[in-house]
Amino acid sequence: MAADKQILFRKLPAVDQLLANPVIEKALVSHPKGLVLKAINLVLDGFRADIREGSIVEPGPEFEAESVSLRVLERLELISMPSLRNVINATGVVVHTNLGRSILPEKALERFNSIAGGYSNLEYDLDNGTRGSRYVHVEEILKELTSAEAAMVVNNNAAAVLIALETLAKDREVVVSRGQLVEIGGSFRIPDVMRKSGAKMVEVGATNKTHLKDYEEVIGPQTALLLKVHTSNFQVVGFTEEVPMPELVKLGERHGIPVMEDLGSGCLVDLSNFGLIKEPTVQESLALGADLVTFSGDKLLGGPQAGIILGRRDLVQAIRRNQLNRALRIDKLTLVALEETLRLYRDQRLAMKEIPTLAMICHSYDSLREKADRLHKLVSNTKSNNFSIELIDGSSKVGGGALPLQELKSRILCLIPGKLSSQQMEFWFRAYAPPLITRLERDRVVFDVRTIQEREFEIVARAIKDLAVAESLEGRM
Ligand SMILES: *Cc1c(COP(=O)(O)O)cnc(C)c1O
Repeated sequence: MAADKQILFRKLPAVDQLLANPVIEKALVSHPKGLVLKAINLVLDGFRADIREGSIVEPGPEFEAESVSLRVLERLELISMPSLRNVINATGVVVHTNLGRSILPEKALERFNSIAGGYSNLEYDLDNGTRGSRYVHVEEILKELTSAEAAMVVNNNAAAVLIALETLAKDREVVVSRGQLVEIGGSFRIPDVMRKSGAKMVEVGATNKTHLKDYEEVIGPQTALLLKVHTSNFQVVGFTEEVPMPELVKLGERHGIPVMEDLGSGCLVDLSNFGLIKEPTVQESLALGADLVTFSGDKLLGGPQAGIILGRRDLVQAIRRNQLNRALRIDKLTLVALEETLRLYRDQRLAMKEIPTLAMICHSYDSLREKADRLHKLVSNTKSNNFSIELIDGSSKVGGGALPLQELKSRILCLIPGKLSSQQMEFWFRAYAPPLITRLERDRVVFDVRTIQEREFEIVARAIKDLAVAESLEGRM
C-alpha cells in the first residue's frame, strides 16, 4: 500500500516541469516567481494529501502537467487577490461589525483621499509654525455639536472606556449595576476591561433591578467613579428598574464622585423623530449631567472606527495626559474621515441624507419598495430550475449592538430553493467575485435591499443570472 502511494507521488509532475509549461510561463509574465512557486506547491501538496488519505488511488488525467498547470493558475488567481476586499452586504444589518460597520459618506472619502496622499497639518500649528495637537481637528466641532465642555478621540470605544477607567479609577473602585455588565461581540466585556484598567469593579443590584440605594450603600473612600453602561445588544424586559441618569448624577455630586456613561453606539440624532425606538442621544446624556460619556465612531454615528470621549474639562484633560493615550491614539486617516462625518451633522437634514448608516436606517418603506422593484426588474425574467424568485416584505436590523429590538420594515428579494438548496446558494454567492453576503431565512436566500447600494444592483443581478444557469456547483463548493 505504502509503496503504491510512493509510486503515485512520483507520477506527479515536477516543479521544473510545471514551470516550463506554456500556461505557467505566461503566468510568470504578470506574477512574481515566488508567488507562482507558492501556487505550484499548494496544488502539489493538495494532491499529496489526497494520495495519503486514499482519495486518489491511481494516476488519472488530472496528473498531467497540462491539467495541473490549470489548477495552479486558478490557485494563483486566488492567492494573488488582496485579502481585504469589498463585499456586497445583502443581510439587511446596517451596522454589520463583521462587514466593516459603517460605510463612509462620499464627502469623507474625498477628504480621506487627499489627506492620505499628501502631507497635512496633523500635528502642526499653522498660525505659529510650531508643533500642534492632532486632537484640535475634531475637538471644536464635537464641542459645538454636543455642548460638551471638552472632547477627545482614541482608537475605538473599547479604548475610550479603558483609558477613562485607567485614568480616573486605577487601584480604586468603580460602581456598576449588575444589569449592565455587557459583552459586546465577544471581544469587549465590561468586567474584563475593568480588570485591565486596574480598577476594582463593585457590582450592585440584581440583573433586572438596581436601585439608587444599592449604589449609595457601597460608596466609600475608595469609590472613584459611578459607571453606567448602555446594554447595547440586549434588553432586560419585564420587571426591571435602572437608576435614571439625573439621580445617579445627584448621588455622585453629593459624594464628589464623577458619573461616566458608556453609550456604546452614541447617536447625535434623535431617531425617535424618524419613527424609531427612543434612545438617549449623546447630547441628552450630557445634558442630564453625565461627567463623561464615551461612544463609537462607526456605529450609529456612521463614521470611521474611533472612540469619542466627551465631558468635563478636568477629566478629559487628565485622560489626554495619560501615557496610554500614545498607544491608543487615532491616526490621521481616521481623523479626517471623522472630521468630515461630524461636519455633516451641522445640518441634520444633510446628515440624514449623506451619512449612509443614517440614510439606510431611516430609509422609508415606500422608497425601499421602489428600490426593490428596480432590483427585481433586472432579474424578473430569469427562469431557472435552480431556484425561483419572490419579492416580499421583510425586516432589517440596525446592528452594531444598537436598538436590538427595533424591527425595520423592509422589502426583500428571496430565492426559493429548486434544484439547489438554500445553503448551496448562500455559499455560491459568498464565493462570487465580489462576494455577496446574503442571509438565510425560512430556508430561503434573502437579499435585503436596505443595505445593498444602488450602484451594486448590476452585480447582484448578474450573480443571480449566473446562478440561474449554473449547471453544477463544482469548483465553487
Ligand atoms: C460597541 C460597544 C463598545 C465597544 O466599542 P468599539 O468602538 O467597538 O470598541 C463598548 N461599549 C458598548 C456599550 C458598546 O456598545
